[in-house]
Order: sequence, then C-alpha cells, then structure tokens
Amino acid sequence: MEFRSTRSAEPLVSFKDAVLRCLPPDGGLYIPASVTDMRQFFLYMDEDTSYPELVATVAPSLLQGELNPFSAARVAESAFDFEPELKILDDSLSVLNLYNGPTGVFKDFGIAFLAAIMEELIKNNGRAMILCAARSGGTGASIAHSFYKRKGMTAVILYPAGTVHGLDPALFVPQGGNILPIQIEGNFDDCQQLIRNAIHDRPFAERYSITSANAINVGRLLPQAFYYLYAFVKIKKKLCGDLSFSVPSGNFGNLIAGLYAWKFGMPVNGFIAAMNTNNAFGEYIRGEKFVPRPVVSTISPALDVSNPANYSRLAAFYQESPAVMQNMVFPEVIDDGTTIAAMEQAWKDYGIILDPHGAVAFAAAKRCLGSRDFGGHVVVMATGHPAKYADLVFKVTGQRVEVPENIAALQNEVDPVAVIPPSLDSLQAAIASCC
Ligand SMILES: *Cc1c(COP(=O)(O)O)cnc(C)c1O
Repeated sequence: MEFRSTRSAEPLVSFKDAVLRCLPPDGGLYIPASVTDMRQFFLYMDEDTSYPELVATVAPSLLQGELNPFSAARVAESAFDFEPELKILDDSLSVLNLYNGPTGVFKDFGIAFLAAIMEELIKNNGRAMILCAARSGGTGASIAHSFYKRKGMTAVILYPAGTVHGLDPALFVPQGGNILPIQIEGNFDDCQQLIRNAIHDRPFAERYSITSANAINVGRLLPQAFYYLYAFVKIKKKLCGDLSFSVPSGNFGNLIAGLYAWKFGMPVNGFIAAMNTNNAFGEYIRGEKFVPRPVVSTISPALDVSNPANYSRLAAFYQESPAVMQNMVFPEVIDDGTTIAAMEQAWKDYGIILDPHGAVAFAAAKRCLGSRDFGGHVVVMATGHPAKYADLVFKVTGQRVEVPENIAALQNEVDPVAVIPPSLDSLQAAIASCC
C-alpha cells in the first residue's frame, strides 16, 4: 500500500516514509493512495482469533513489501498486551470495549501499534524522535507507556501547563530514559502548531529524524481499522442482517478508520457519527458547507472539537465517493441530558457501565435503531474507561466502579524537564540540549 497527500495524487510514498515524515510537504495529510481488498484474510477467520493474531495476519498483507509476516507477528506481540472486548447485548446491539489499554482510551490501540512498528521500521539503521502534543493525562501517558525503551527512539511530549498527568519521572531523558516532557507556555493549539513547524523545518527535522505521534500520523490511523475487523470476526456468525457501528466522534480518526475497514472489504452498512452538542461537522456530512462554531464544554470532553483534525481526510473520502459517504455516515447529536439518560439505561437494561463518550454512542445507536428505516445490528464503540468518571457513574447508576491502578496513576502531577515559550527556536534549543 502506498500513500499520498490529501492535496494531490502524486507523489506516492511508502508506509515507512509516511510514518517517519508524518506530514507531506504540501501541507496536507497522508492517506492510502489505493486500498487492498483484505477479505480473504478475515472473512474466514476463526472467532477465537486473538487480537495480536488478527493484526499479525492483516498488517503484512496491507503493508506488503514493507512488513513481512515474521516482523508483523513481532510487532503485534510487542504492541498488544491488551485486547478489545466485544459484548453482545442482544440481537440488535453489542458494545466493543476499547478501554483495556494502559491509559483506558481507544487511542492506546493506535499509539501502541505506531510505537512497535516504528521500532521495526528503523531497526537496521536508524533512530527517530516523535513529537506529540497532549492536552490531557491520557495521551501523554499512553505515548510514554508505548515508546518507553523502544530502541533508537525518543518521545517528546509538548503540553500546556496543568494538563498532563501520570508520567513516571523514571522514564524521563535526564534519568536515562527516552521520554521528554516539555511544558509550553501557551495552549494546545500552540503545541500542535509547534510540531507542524518543527516537521516542516526539514534540516532540523532530518538531523533528529523527527516525526509526530499525534493522530495526524497515518501510522496511528491505519491500525485503528484492525479493531473494526476484530469486532466483525467475533460477531459475523451471529449476524443475519445489516451491520453498523456507532462511533463517538471528535477529531473523526476513529470513524475514518472504520471507513478504511470498509474499504478493506469489511461488510458493513454504515457508521453512526455520534457527536455531542459540538456538531457543526454533522452538517458537513449531510452535504452542507462546513462552518466551524466555537467549542462548547460538555460531559464528553474528548468530543468537544469544533474543527476536526481529520477534516481533510474525510473530505478526500467524499471526493472519491460522495454518494457512498452520504449513505454510509449518519450524524447524530446527543446532548448532555441524553448522555446521562443513556448511562442509566445501559446499566438498567443491560447491566453495563459506560463512560460519557461510550454513552453518546449508545444513545445515538438506540435512536437509530428506534427509527423506521434503520435495522440490523449496531456495535457501540466504548472508547473510554468508566473508572475515569467514577463519580458521575455512581451518581447516575448507584454503582461504584473499581479504579484500576493504571487509571489512578493518571492523576499524578508531572514535573516537566523544561518549560519554554511557544517558539520553534526555544523548542529546537530544548531538544538540542537534551538529546
Ligand atoms: C479521543 C476520544 C474520542 C474521539 O475520537 P476521535 O478519533 O477524535 O473522533 C472519543 N472518546 C474518547 C474517550 C476519546 O479519548
């Protein structure tokens, strides 16, 4: 599989180049230039297939010529000591728990694969430095967990004051580790802009082999298609009609990964783009012009996004097949009150505990299933661990969720290795002095 920029059909680059450069020089984002039909690899897979087995089978055929089956098995084993978990609730509804990774969010799946495959891609000659902007404890901790001790790699985490928690100082560069947290005197957008600038300064980026581990890296996006295939493999024998996925959507990385799973040949009828009140993007999906609106704070904060980072990827998809898109992606808007009611209903009717993000997807799935022209089976993507919302869960359901150690550790304060203003010069100086 080769990759191209969202802005032009040429040039084509390898997976390795797309991952290690992250951003095409023309300012677009990398997307697959053509897509392989993978049906022969997963249609007949046994439903007992483990997640690493599925990844080790699918990834090398997807990345033919760049990843052989032996390397793929090694990558899958070293990335995943956790698995998605499909719970079938009844004939029309399942929940795919994606929160069993080190930091309790589905993003662990993309980050863990990216770290493992990068180590494989550079193993003969190289080193790489990944830059990542973090605005919450989760992403920074997930990066630290997945990249720690990876050979030849340094992970630089940029974040605004007070946002990142739960990094173990023993992993930091001054202590002999390879994780470098740098606090930026600015906001999250400043952090993201700094990363783009650092990558586009080619001489500096090449000196340190800099790439990004944010969701803009296609090496994080692509592996997210694997858990859709996994859900399909687990449920296919029980299906007797349509299959859809309900995806809580903020930056739309998760949903786009689902669209790729469809392009790889997964039989699926549609995707519900479950949004909270920050739903301007839904109008775009319905075919109107996209006009971002100011962000509103909700109880599902990971969905509080006004201008999704993957906009250009979705737009590229639309260009290729507009009719298909409009008949495959169904936007639904779920407000906070409906989210709370869904948490309560999921517990009362099915005995499952959802975090607010999973509840947005659950509510959207229920609404669709209740409408006349929607049928079949819906898989709800439970993207976040309910223990992160233990107080809210208790208030709504009366249930006390046990907080696992890894989730509790995400509260710990972090002392950054450096605090710098949001300028490229300062970032480059900080990197040069530490690495
Ligand atoms: C990031 C996140 C989302 C949104 O995923 P996108 O790929 O940005 O659409 C949903 N739920 C949780 C818990 C998240 O952390």
